[in-house]
Amino acid sequence: MPPASRPSNVAASLPILSERAGDARGEWTGRLTESVVPVPRDVWVHPAVEVRGSPIAGRGLFTTAPIADGTVLIRFGGTTVTTPGLHELFTRATLDGTYIDSFALDDDTHLVLPAGTPAHFANHSCDPTTWLVGPLELAARRDLDRDTEVTSDYGVISDDASFRMVCTCATSACRRVVTGRDWERLDLQATHRGHWPPGLQRRIEAATASSP
Ligand SMILES: [Zn+2]
Repeated sequence: MPPASRPSNVAASLPILSERAGDARGEWTGRLTESVVPVPRDVWVHPAVEVRGSPIAGRGLFTTAPIADGTVLIRFGGTTVTTPGLHELFTRATLDGTYIDSFALDDDTHLVLPAGTPAHFANHSCDPTTWLVGPLELAARRDLDRDTEVTSDYGVISDDASFRMVCTCATSACRRVVTGRDWERLDLQATHRGHWPPGLQRRIEAATASSP
């Protein structure tokens, strides 16, 4: 999902945390946050999902067997950081030539994934094959055939106003540009109802309640 400074092949990778925080380059000063939910340290990926070359960008995740609608394919883990802390990690990653994969967990709270997990290769699509079914779980959004690319919509899992990515997913739903403010779009609020990170879900409900 949706880091501001992504490596080239990340037209599409899920937002993830580098273990470099606090390394010999100096202590990382980003504040860790208390998460709304217990966050495991590692990422789990369904055994019927593997990394392959992707027509969307670089490498992607693909099913190796039919997957039923609703099956959890990725359970995230890692470290939670504030928005300023996330931006500091992006800056460091840019300097180091590494990457950060992250996504929104709650208000001013982002989950940063450990580096090197298969989840990094989950590409973005504006018509994704997965969506959130819990703060840390991406599940199949429909029945998936074998050899289907496992994608998520970065705009729906980002709450970083600085995030912006040009999209060439080529689906009929393609928005061309995906941003960390896509949660404000009424069309996405409708199509992803009940599948938002908790912080964005509350904000959408508040906006809906206050609209005429
Ligand atoms: Zn697109």
